[in-house]
Amino acid sequence: MGVEEAPSGFLLTTIEDLAGYLRKASVWPVTFGLACCAIEMMAAGASRFDLSRFGMEVFRASPRQADLMIVAGRVSQKMAPVVRQVYDQMSEPKWVLSMGVCASSGGMFNNYAIVQGVDHVVPVDIYLPGCPPRPEMLINAILGLHDHIQTAPLGANRLEAARAAEAAAMEATPTFEMKGLLR
Ligand code: SF4
Repeated sequence: MGVEEAPSGFLLTTIEDLAGYLRKASVWPVTFGLACCAIEMMAAGASRFDLSRFGMEVFRASPRQADLMIVAGRVSQKMAPVVRQVYDQMSEPKWVLSMGVCASSGGMFNNYAIVQGVDHVVPVDIYLPGCPPRPEMLINAILGLHDHIQTAPLGANRLEAARAAEAAAMEATPTFEMKGLLR
């Protein structure tokens, strides 16, 4: 029986704490950058900011060896299927960090070529504002994600929560169809 199928109750609570700690302390991002935000992400991994202090020793070149997708930059309509394919190939459990205003909402690119929020393509666990967010901001967001991972339930509860978040994102009205100040 895998840890995901363990019954709920006192014992599972303890296992959840341990699994959460181990997961948050060994998050490996997939090597993946889309635009200018990726430069700040690269800086976060370099010696001055040193993401490896938080267990993120390497950015993996294969999505099958990664469990964190940092969407760093605007997502074009052409790239959206590629982003989804990389996400689908990542190992479970996995998380998505939307880095910067372009990835989160399309930013200043309110046009037909850019996806108006990557949460229309993959389920996002944490959003990081800014243009571009500094490496310190990225590290702060990752530490926030660590808290989320530490307290995430195991088993069917986690799967249900992930599926519900994904369904809600896919059904959300794209921002370019909204009646806002620009229309
Ligand atoms: S948020 Fe700013 S820095 Fe990041 S991809 Fe968009 S324009 Fe570039």
